[in-house]
Amino acid sequence: MSVSRGKLHTTVSSALEDRILGGELKVGDKLGSESAIADEFGVSTRSVREAIQTLETKGLVRRRHGGRTTVVREDVHEFIDTLAVTVRQQLAADPGYLEQLMQARRMIETETIELLMTRDPSVTPDVEAALDRMRIARDEGDFTGFVVADAAFHLALVHSSGNRILAIMYDNFANLIGEMIQLSSRVPTKSLDEAYAEHAEIFACIRDRDEAGAQALMRAQIDRSADYLRVAIAKAQQKED
Ligand SMILES: [Zn+2]
Repeated sequence: MSVSRGKLHTTVSSALEDRILGGELKVGDKLGSESAIADEFGVSTRSVREAIQTLETKGLVRRRHGGRTTVVREDVHEFIDTLAVTVRQQLAADPGYLEQLMQARRMIETETIELLMTRDPSVTPDVEAALDRMRIARDEGDFTGFVVADAAFHLALVHSSGNRILAIMYDNFANLIGEMIQLSSRVPTKSLDEAYAEHAEIFACIRDRDEAGAQALMRAQIDRSADYLRVAIAKAQQKED
């Protein structure tokens, strides 16, 4: 097999990634020295360093100064596995569960927008604060911070409605919705850029009192989340089989 020079580190990182995800290398295991890995794959130590950098970005290894590189699992797969447990349990009990939850979310959040139109100001400062946190997290590539702010954005919108019954209802499944948001955002088809833009657009419509526009965007966003979620759950289940 001939591999172009630029792709050497990719070959090494894919091979090591397979060993970690396949369980051949476990959490806490140490990788070989750079020169040992270089010998094994017949590449330069520079390519090995690049490969390890890639694995570190993916949350699969951690480098320590003066020490050997250690295997960790802070990656997408592990994250989806953990989060998917609750959702999968619910889905196992009732396959219509995801559909029902998304229907309930769509009802509450689109009707919330109608209520916001009657208020002055339409939303509390918490909404814009959450949006600001999403933007900062996007700029920093801070995925976890982003999803926390994303959930806070939706929660703040419902609380802005001034309807305490609605707020109580939403709070009751806010944790689950938070998990759903985390899980669906983890599907790599959606960038933080796109996700932020969607929310900023909804916020702008609400601020401009464009009720129909805000509702259409919110509905579309929740429907897309449901699609992402189906993909995430399918992936998590494939891994189990
Ligand atoms: Zn959102």
